[in-house]
Amino acid sequence: MNNARNPLIAGNWQMYKGGLQGVELAGALVGIAREVPNVDLVIAPPFTVLAACAHEVEGSSIAIAAQNFYPKNEGAFTGEVSAPMLKDSGCTWVIVGHSERRQYFGETDATVAERVQAAIAAGLEPIVCVGETLAERESGQTLAVVNRQVSAFINLLTHHAVIAYEPVWAIGTGKTAGPNEAEEVHAAIRAQLDKHRSGLGTTTRILYGGSVKADNAAALLACPNVDGALVGGASLDANTFGAIARAAQTLA
Ligand code: PEP
Repeated sequence: MNNARNPLIAGNWQMYKGGLQGVELAGALVGIAREVPNVDLVIAPPFTVLAACAHEVEGSSIAIAAQNFYPKNEGAFTGEVSAPMLKDSGCTWVIVGHSERRQYFGETDATVAERVQAAIAAGLEPIVCVGETLAERESGQTLAVVNRQVSAFINLLTHHAVIAYEPVWAIGTGKTAGPNEAEEVHAAIRAQLDKHRSGLGTTTRILYGGSVKADNAAALLACPNVDGALVGGASLDANTFGAIARAAQTLA
């Protein structure tokens, strides 16, 4: 980790904890936030409990993210939720381009870029996800794929952007990129950012995601170009999410 970039630990609750359990989990994290003053904590509950979780963590350092949105402000888009609606619900962040959105809901580099633009225009901070599939890794295309995905939105990034490198083969599988594998991709993304605009790499936080757990977090977070983690399964429990946040605090 680099001290110029505050560590950020974000919990992606995916399609879990959509009711009272979610509000309770948010409440349990408030105490943990006090223990990790040098770590930025973000949680991304499902839409149904965004406002309730925002209310629950009010006054703490925990920020609320949505997991997705539709990049129009309003209109006849039945079933969709806009960035201004997320803001009204207490969100300050939004995850964009998660691999599950790309894999199951037809998101492409182009629709990811649209969302990055709409999020920033609405005043939400995007956490933009990139990452290669197993087939792409095995055929030696990892850096080319990630470079292409980042190129799609690089023009839109502000100096406090957040990118999450999440190898698709590591999400929810229990397989984690080793620290060296993660560091190689993070360093390549940072170099791409700096090449695009001087200083952009220095200020952009690059999170690692993919089966981050309490027992592997410290080794990943110790990598110089890993600025935090996007955590799925292990964010559904206050103790394991807390352990990851504490690992980041120790290294901060
Ligand atoms: C995720 O959902 O973004 C994720 C990284 O999940 P997991 O930590 O469970 O692999």
